[in-house]
Amino acid sequence: MKHFEMARPTDLKEASSLLGKDLGEARLLAGGMDLLGELKDHIIEPNRLVNLKSVRNLDYIDPKGGNLRLGALVTLTEIAGHADIRKRYTALAEAAEVVGSPQIRNIGTLGGNLCQRPRCWYYRDEHVHCLKKGGNHCFAVNGQNQYHAILGGGPCFIVHPSDLAPALIALDAQVKIVSAAGSRDVPLEKFFILPAEDPHRENILQPGEIVSEVSVPEPEAGVKSAYLKQREKESFDWSLSACAAALEMDGRACRNARLVLGGVAPAPWRAAEAEKALQGKTIDEAAALQAAEAAVRDATSLEHNGYKVPLTKAVVQMAILKAAGA
Ligand SMILES: Cc1cc2nc3c(=O)[nH]c(=O)nc-3n(C[C@H](O)[C@H](O)[C@H](O)COP(=O)(O)OP(=O)(O)OC[C@H]3O[C@@H](n4cnc5c(N)ncnc54)[C@H](O)[C@@H]3O)c2cc1C
Repeated sequence: MKHFEMARPTDLKEASSLLGKDLGEARLLAGGMDLLGELKDHIIEPNRLVNLKSVRNLDYIDPKGGNLRLGALVTLTEIAGHADIRKRYTALAEAAEVVGSPQIRNIGTLGGNLCQRPRCWYYRDEHVHCLKKGGNHCFAVNGQNQYHAILGGGPCFIVHPSDLAPALIALDAQVKIVSAAGSRDVPLEKFFILPAEDPHRENILQPGEIVSEVSVPEPEAGVKSAYLKQREKESFDWSLSACAAALEMDGRACRNARLVLGGVAPAPWRAAEAEKALQGKTIDEAAALQAAEAAVRDATSLEHNGYKVPLTKAVVQMAILKAAGA
């Protein structure tokens, strides 16, 4: 691994200044579960790491006063085990508890989970100069693409790896982004971008910007949520396909739905047509299936990932039924 300097800022402005404007020079370190892999595999070789963990008071969970506020350094274990989150923001607790393994959840942070880089094996191979790394070709298009995107792909076909992101978008979360110049609040749904906009990054963060907080509004009365993920192994694995469902229920009828898919698109994917299909419906197997069919209607598979279409349909149907308790 290339030698680097370790900076330990004590506040966010200092952290932002230390990051500077050149991603090749400096990177932000939180739990390191993803970043250390990138360093060891020579995917990135910065001269400086800026350790966010030396910034105080970024590891809070504050459920009081309506909005749930989560500091960027809260760990996945803390989110999964928080009684109030489990009760009122169920999809979020369920997403946190299926990330990786206990060791990863103990160290991995909320901010790091949202900003982790894709797991595409072409991107992660130091010898492959793919589109995402500044090359001019996405090797997944005609290559080993069994884990790649069926929705929103092109010109690069990564899938977004975060489990927390779909759950938080289903719950209508916002992120606070800070830099030396100030701060801005953005709906999490608008935080992620597709490769068609810029194949080199997965979100709107500019150099020097840091996610400091995620806030989630108090759910409307009757909202029930759930997260369901399908993976190859029972643990220690990213999603092949996942669905976060937040349903505003009136008895057994659904007033409004928010459905967000993970593991199938380069960004967390809002299934808008499926949401419409649920509006006003009594939630049963047939209604959930109809919505699931709408969720994959625009899916396009590559040579080896066609299985993701029926898999996603099943995951969406089951997530809806799980959220509704049907
Ligand atoms: C074997 C294995 C299995 C895994 N399985 C899953 C899984 O099933 N589901 C899943 O969702 N994830 C999975 N992960 C990924 C892991 O959960 C995330 O990498 C972890 O949450 C990252 O948090 P961290 O604090 O360790 O981030 P770091 O590794 O420190 O950082 C990750 C990236 O985010 C950036 N970053 C960190 N914090 C911030 C911030 N506050 N603002 C801006 N940028 C920031 C860093 O610069 C870096 O680029 C797995 C990882 C491994 C190694």
